[in-house]
Amino acid sequence: MSAESKPPDRDYLVPEAEVELRVKALEALVVEKGLVSTDALDRISAHYEDEVGPRDGARVIARAWVDPAFKERLLADATAACEELGIKGLRGEHLRAVEDTPEVHNVVVCTLCSCYPWAVLGLPPSWYKSPEYRAKVVLEPRRTLADDFGFPVPEEVTVRVWDSNSELRYFVIPQHPEGTEHMSEAELAELVTREAMIGVGPVTAT
Ligand code: FE
Repeated sequence: MSAESKPPDRDYLVPEAEVELRVKALEALVVEKGLVSTDALDRISAHYEDEVGPRDGARVIARAWVDPAFKERLLADATAACEELGIKGLRGEHLRAVEDTPEVHNVVVCTLCSCYPWAVLGLPPSWYKSPEYRAKVVLEPRRTLADDFGFPVPEEVTVRVWDSNSELRYFVIPQHPEGTEHMSEAELAELVTREAMIGVGPVTAT
């Protein structure tokens, strides 16, 4: 079977039970050692899943769409621009926003581990941490987006892959979707998904 006809391997998109078990084992260990309480762990994870989530990032994108001056500041210094909206904290330092255009589509990965802009996007999805995604999106970004995420990027659009690390955490400013001129900033934010800000999914005007 040639590489061309090889079926896509999407297994990494499914959360791994083994990883979850390992996390539980580690959690039990640190709690047992008295290093941290289960309450504290629950509060941290609830905060990043429910309160921070990707909603803060969506607010940033919507603001950038409606306020060109803000977008300029966001592109120049994302950490400072996010602080303007009251967004800062864990893994919020060293943020960098990269902008999609009709010519360029951006996608984010951390090839080394799982560096991710928690402050704006919340907890990383499990597939973001998988060795499969980290390897595939670098080697074959176009095919990974099309086959694994059902998100084909037109041939004439350049795909640019950004490798996050602990010093620099990227997120994507997707293109402002057409036909949304009547929408408020809050309504626009509702359109912005976590996947769109990683660069593996579209923003769809509903
Ligand atoms: Fe990393």
